Amino acid sequence: MRNQIAAANWKMNLTYQQAEKLLDEILKAQIELSTHQQVIFAVPAPYLTMAKSEVGRDKNFFIAAQNCHHKKSGAFTGEISAEMLQSLGIKYCVIGHSERREYFQETHAMLADKMDQCLENFITPIFCCGEPLSIRESGTQNEYVAQQLKDSLFHLSAAQVQSIIIAYEPIWAIGTGKTATTEQAQEIHAFLRSVISSQYGQDTADTIPILYGGSVKAGNAAELFACPDVDGGLVGGASLVAQDFITIIKALK
Ligand code: PEP
Repeated sequence: MRNQIAAANWKMNLTYQQAEKLLDEILKAQIELSTHQQVIFAVPAPYLTMAKSEVGRDKNFFIAAQNCHHKKSGAFTGEISAEMLQSLGIKYCVIGHSERREYFQETHAMLADKMDQCLENFITPIFCCGEPLSIRESGTQNEYVAQQLKDSLFHLSAAQVQSIIIAYEPIWAIGTGKTATTEQAQEIHAFLRSVISSQYGQDTADTIPILYGGSVKAGNAAELFACPDVDGGLVGGASLVAQDFITIIKALK
């Protein structure tokens, strides 16, 4: 079975003390997980080391950065490189979240370079894609997300692609309380897998976890995760509330 993943995206929220408390509450719940089930916390950069030490050696819990720079190193004040993350022992990094694409003008080409930086540093990228409302309303969401994959992933080898995670996040559902229906989620996840398959073959496509993101909540996680091509979720708002995120973790297949 493909890995099933509950990934928390804390974004720019929580003080250090609140972050420690939230992690503590979730870890204290001692949720029973199988080896194919993983929980990943994408935390603000200043909390990476603390969060990594909180989850310790638990084999189901991991820490992710929310971003890294697309260049290896250099005069980029305020930025964080994939190599720095690797030196902290961080194994995951969110790449191309729609907020970064929109507010920080991240282009397909920059994201392709970020993928390379992560993979060169043994960091699993969680590559985000997803369409805005206008594209969904025009019915061209498949073409839109296929282009996102082509422009930022298709320079990678099959072996590299097998080691990534994809998160499909329709922008109209992020932080809006509006969730894709299970039919919409399953349909586009299956389509994304077919795009990977046509470039890299079915075996490769079958290994890649594709997470759904966009107002996943305690009350809708189980039905979304039950879709055959939905391998868990990337969760913003609901990951900031311990009990809600615990329920979401328990909804993993
Ligand atoms: C996200 O930040 O990736 C996200 C999906 O947010 P929310 O769950 O709040 O919609």
